Amino acid sequence: MKDAFMSSVSMPAGYGKTYKNFKDDDHPNLIHCPLADENVNLLAHHFKNKGELVIKREIDGEMFCHPHPLILYDTFLNGSVSLHDPMKKVELLCDGCLRPITSMPFYKCSEHDCDFVLHEWCTMLPSQIQDHHHSPGHTLVFMAKTPIDSLGLFKCQICWLPCNGFAYGCMQCAYYVDIHCVFIPDVITHDAHPNHLLSRFKASSAYKDCKACTERIGEMGFYCPTCDFYLDLNCALLLPRTIRHKFDKHPLTLRYYPAENHGSEYFCEICEDEFDPTDWFYHCNMCAYSMHTACAPLKQQCKLYFVI
Ligand SMILES: [Zn+2]
Ligand SMILES: [Zn+2]
Ligand SMILES: [Zn+2]
Ligand SMILES: [Zn+2]
Ligand SMILES: [Zn+2]
Ligand SMILES: [Zn+2]
Ligand SMILES: [Zn+2]
Repeated sequence: MKDAFMSSVSMPAGYGKTYKNFKDDDHPNLIHCPLADENVNLLAHHFKNKGELVIKREIDGEMFCHPHPLILYDTFLNGSVSLHDPMKKVELLCDGCLRPITSMPFYKCSEHDCDFVLHEWCTMLPSQIQDHHHSPGHTLVFMAKTPIDSLGLFKCQICWLPCNGFAYGCMQCAYYVDIHCVFIPDVITHDAHPNHLLSRFKASSAYKDCKACTERIGEMGFYCPTCDFYLDLNCALLLPRTIRHKFDKHPLTLRYYPAENHGSEYFCEICEDEFDPTDWFYHCNMCAYSMHTACAPLKQQCKLYFVI
């Protein structure tokens, strides 16, 4: 067995035959990436596993800096609010995490003409987080709106995406993190490197390129300690296995390398540029329709009407 392990260590990264180096039983809550689709949400995973979801019919809006009470929408009888659906061009984004709301139940403002909505798990966030892995010895406090400007717009110190949703932060240090990045797991597994666990690492000390987008990894990423395999945070967690786009009636699937080695024959339907043959991309086999991962509308963390 020792030999088998040694040979797995020297294997090149990627799709080669590697020996599985972990037991599923040892990691019952392991996040399997890519996440199935945009409905699967890191926060939901976190709270469901902890059994912390306690559903109330109505909650006070005040703790979310909202002036009206919020009501649980749990059947379609509850009115005229349509769930997020890119195929029908319906956008319903949570005001806490700014990600789509695609299933019931969720909370909506009780005022008829107020569009404030929240995922159920986004109403159950802890009021503070001590000793956060990214800033040890520090207490990060929940903020429905950061005190930076009147829009609460901030740049997350972990994923570096601009955000105007809920945050955890420390005002003294002017340090703010969006609510997804606060719950980033220590380890994940990813289909692009399926047999080895990928561990979270802080990129500031080592310059590494992401396997998915070939960009240098910014603040944090995941890597395989035995192989030269690195992913940045956003490519690991924000690129689901399938996406829907209004331009294509089929789901587009995440591909880890250009098919048939004819990278230059593929071009992105959104920006019309070619593909870097080593970059991941989305593709529909039926329509031969392709899209850069960066051109897919997946990394949005601001509500459009707030963007300045
Ligand atoms: Zn949310
Ligand atoms: Zn309201
Ligand atoms: Zn972030
Ligand atoms: Zn990347
Ligand atoms: Zn590996
Ligand atoms: Zn593109
Ligand atoms: Zn198609």
